[in-house]
Amino acid sequence: MLLEIVRKFEYKSDFERLKTLKQILKSKNIKFMEQNYKYFGFSGTNIIVDMGKAKKHIILSGHFDAAPGSPGANDDASAIATLIDVIQKLKKLRLKNKVSVVFFDDEEIGRFGSISYIKEFGLKDLIVVYHLELCGYGDSIGLWPVVETNKDSYALKVIEQVLKEKNIYFEKVGQLPAFYGDDLSFREAGFSHALCISVAPKKDKEAIKRFVKGDLLNVMFDYYAGRIPRMFQLYHSPEDKSEHLSEEALKMVSDVLVSVVLKFNKENL
Ligand SMILES: [Zn+2]
Repeated sequence: MLLEIVRKFEYKSDFERLKTLKQILKSKNIKFMEQNYKYFGFSGTNIIVDMGKAKKHIILSGHFDAAPGSPGANDDASAIATLIDVIQKLKKLRLKNKVSVVFFDDEEIGRFGSISYIKEFGLKDLIVVYHLELCGYGDSIGLWPVVETNKDSYALKVIEQVLKEKNIYFEKVGQLPAFYGDDLSFREAGFSHALCISVAPKKDKEAIKRFVKGDLLNVMFDYYAGRIPRMFQLYHSPEDKSEHLSEEALKMVSDVLVSVVLKFNKENL
């Protein structure tokens, strides 16, 4: 059960979440590397699982830190559980590209983990980055932000193909107001094939679209008036609990990511 993994992170401090992540990886015989970094006086640790020996590589990522005051189940323990499942599946497959699964630290205070990762390892030989945020609430996939820099990227093209083949309902979403994930660090560094994947309830799609279009002031007003889509009400709140999440959602994302990696096996990039 992937939700059991989510529960192991819930309500824990970032320090405990890091410890928990390392314990789980060890218990599953998954080898990992620790990247310790310092950024503006903050010390952090990214956990990196590399698979495959090729030069060109794919990054699949999530972040293990949580927003203060939030149990951090959907944001972003849902991604951690999903990525652990993906690692276990990919370990059994032949990989044509290197796949780095990266569990970033310090996303919530300003993406320090992903910025430090790029600083140390660079962008050379990188094919694509898929970052996971909020993967446990809902039944359809949101690809975001689809913006000028990545709208024609194969990051988007390949996952769209996979979702169509699997008959999974998805929406492409523009820039959300005041929302971002570690994929932004890669686009900011000049790498356009970086995209964020989330799960959202299909029934809320119109409300989510309204929310996405709104400017920051309207969004804050709606937020306090309780008018924003439920997934964003849970986000960063004391209500971001595993009880709202579903096993099916996590499994769907895991399955999609494995298929995406296999599709990149066939692409000549
Ligand atoms: Zn997050």
